[in-house]
Amino acid sequence: MRQRLRFTHAVFAFLALLVAVLLPAAAPAQAYAGHPKLIVVVVIDQFRGDYLNRDRAEFKGRGFRLFMDEGAWFTDCYYDYANTKTAPGHATIGTGAYSDGHGIESNEFWDASRSWDHKVSSVEDERYQLVDLPAASIPANQPGAPADALKYVIGASPRNLRASTLGDELRLATQGRARVYGVSLKDRAAILPAGQAANGAFWIDTASGRFTTSTYYMEHLPEWARAFNEGDRPAQAAREALVEGTTQFYELVGRMPAANSYELDFAKSLINGEKLGQNGVTDLLVVSLSANDIQGHQFGPDSESEERMIRSLDRDLDSFNTWLDKTVGLGNVWLALTADHGIAPIPAEAAKLGIDSGTVNLEKLYAKLNAELNERFSKGQKAQYLMPGPELPYIVLDRRAFQKARIDEKAAEDAVAALLPEAVASQAPQPEGPLPAQHRLPPSPQFAGAYTRLELAHGELPPSELGRLLAHSYAEHGNWYVMLALGGYQMEDIRSWGATTHFSPWSYDRHVPLAFYGAPFAPGEYHERVAPVDLAATLASLAGINQPSASVGRVLTEALKPTRQATDH
Ligand SMILES: [Zn+2]
Repeated sequence: MRQRLRFTHAVFAFLALLVAVLLPAAAPAQAYAGHPKLIVVVVIDQFRGDYLNRDRAEFKGRGFRLFMDEGAWFTDCYYDYANTKTAPGHATIGTGAYSDGHGIESNEFWDASRSWDHKVSSVEDERYQLVDLPAASIPANQPGAPADALKYVIGASPRNLRASTLGDELRLATQGRARVYGVSLKDRAAILPAGQAANGAFWIDTASGRFTTSTYYMEHLPEWARAFNEGDRPAQAAREALVEGTTQFYELVGRMPAANSYELDFAKSLINGEKLGQNGVTDLLVVSLSANDIQGHQFGPDSESEERMIRSLDRDLDSFNTWLDKTVGLGNVWLALTADHGIAPIPAEAAKLGIDSGTVNLEKLYAKLNAELNERFSKGQKAQYLMPGPELPYIVLDRRAFQKARIDEKAAEDAVAALLPEAVASQAPQPEGPLPAQHRLPPSPQFAGAYTRLELAHGELPPSELGRLLAHSYAEHGNWYVMLALGGYQMEDIRSWGATTHFSPWSYDRHVPLAFYGAPFAPGEYHERVAPVDLAATLASLAGINQPSASVGRVLTEALKPTRQATDH
């Protein structure tokens, strides 16, 4: 009896094994062809499209040259929207959609449904917490915080994304077998391009430089990430940046070339630790390199600092690509390279060449608008009709003040938009005054247009290229606002925190690189006007999956090898 039982057990065990071996073959997941093994999208934060051409002669090895010489390089890629900021740019790269599709129009916004106390960031989410922070960085609202903890840091998630990403579609197409990750120094740049179904997104604790994530993804960092944090790598990056022992890692290491190799080393640990490219399906990693943006705001696109950063990044990408070749094999990988926005020259530098790069003092502008609005709606009072920030292009109205004065959204936004031309012009220097040194023209801020939230929402926009860009910029973000466009090469005066910025509908803010490397791509330099939305569309098409849910990108067929060659490798 016992013998027979054991025999029956053995038969059952054998049958169970047989079922386990045979069943997956019949499951729908197997229908997915699974090529390539890994897609890596490299995003350089604030990298203008002309940089690759400008520094071409300096590049060595298989860094940028892998894309330019052996890949399909699009020299004329422009964002087709008017809100050229980091969060919308990264969301666009992931989703193949603009703000009107993916729902992210700014890095932070006043969302009346969530808070009147602070601007909410595009990814902050109070329902989640940050994970495995070093003790000194644990904020007051989390267990284990030191007694003197002041910071109120909350978790993050892709809660505001309204569209799926390339990574989400890979996860859906493989019933969750594809592994999808995002990495950056910045939370928004790690989270948004990866998407809602991502396995993980990692960014740094700004004080220590250690990588963290949010409980949206996991309760604790994976072992490989803890090992990275606890090893010498954060300290090594600080040493390389000549700020050993710093507690301002993001600001001081983040603006140095050392930050790029730091991030890429973390990406290598991730690829090893999560065995990307070894899952029998296509995995995806998006790495957003933040350093160029942090230094670029301070020193501008034409500085020595920018030159050093680009050359050093070329070497870092060379060693990363070489490492990828040795581990996963470049024959099994598709690479894409792009950026989230460009940048304007420093206004004073542009002025030296004769450009009217006038700046607008926002404090004065807001004071003037408030005075006019009080004159009109609350004579003799000092009501504050505008919310402080965020940065241009948005001017956010305090709807509570308008409602108190019984002014509805249309009247309020129309009033602000109507006041803007004169308010901007009032900052021009007096015509009879002497010209500032090195200015051919007086640096006069030019009003280029103001568009209300209601006009954007209802598509009441000029039938022009600018109108199209504005329509793509719209997303509901929980408040009343007006979008302001200044003249080309003009910006708000940001001298309190930097030297130049990006926010506008003009070409230098919208021009970014777009390049691909991998078996399906016909190497060459392509001068068609393309857009960053084409990245996700093209990769989705080649991977044989659905395009992201709101994708408006074009499949870049001109850069593809003949079909069979492209898919069989
Ligand atoms: Zn950015």
